[in-house]
Amino acid sequence: MSDSSFRNPRGKGKKRNDWQDHETVNFKKDRVESDLEQLAHECRELTVDYLSRESFSATLCEVVGEALDIFSSRCSGYHFDPEPACRKGCYYCCCEQVDVTQAEAAYIGFKLLSSYTESEIKDIMKEVDRTTVEVGNGRTAAVAKTPCVFLKNNICGIYEARPLACRGRNSFDEIDCKLNFKGDGYYDSIQSHQIPMDIAESIQEGLLRGTKNLGLEAGLLDLRTAVKIMLHIGVAECVDAWLQGDFFFGKSRSL
Ligand code: SF4
Ligand code: SF4
Repeated sequence: MSDSSFRNPRGKGKKRNDWQDHETVNFKKDRVESDLEQLAHECRELTVDYLSRESFSATLCEVVGEALDIFSSRCSGYHFDPEPACRKGCYYCCCEQVDVTQAEAAYIGFKLLSSYTESEIKDIMKEVDRTTVEVGNGRTAAVAKTPCVFLKNNICGIYEARPLACRGRNSFDEIDCKLNFKGDGYYDSIQSHQIPMDIAESIQEGLLRGTKNLGLEAGLLDLRTAVKIMLHIGVAECVDAWLQGDFFFGKSRSL
């Protein structure tokens, strides 16, 4: 690949030339592209179908749960050669910004409340405040190369609920990731499969289209910022307001 600068493949609209495509056994480019569009469409329908019947946070969590199952089942339809080296406990990629949809943020917010103690939540609040910076217009973003606030003893504390972007990211070799993410910034060759990243993005796209079609604010936000907003304002307060047509991410301006 000609471009040597590292770019986060989890961010929407960012190039990812250096996460090199690799041929998979049943890779057929045109078919994959139409499958991805179909997938985004299915996830849009799923979102609209559920939320137009019952616009509650519990229903929203069901939508996201199904979307995460769809990710696993779509990926299992591919044979990846080599198998990605990714595993629970491997964390080198957990120092980059992760973009989430409002629906995923809400899902993670509720998981956080149900699986962390009060004192752990206070620690997370301190950590999000420490590792986010103002980027203008009252908005914040993750400080570069700082570990994700959910990383504890090198393990993701919300592994079962982790965002689609984290699921899509993959690598052939953990050592490449170690050199890239922990290194001095000169090493940038991480070989990975494109398909899981595309599947994750298409599902996110479907969630965004669905919520937008319902007249809700739809966009991507840095995970840490979303957590910061939810923990400072209240998870249920943020999510309920958003489901009623208010700004979810816009609330960061009042922090
Ligand atoms: S992308 Fe790299 S650092 Fe992240 S889980 Fe996979 S092998 Fe580990
Ligand atoms: S949510 Fe989990 S997998 Fe994703 S960056 Fe944070 S610690 Fe890593």
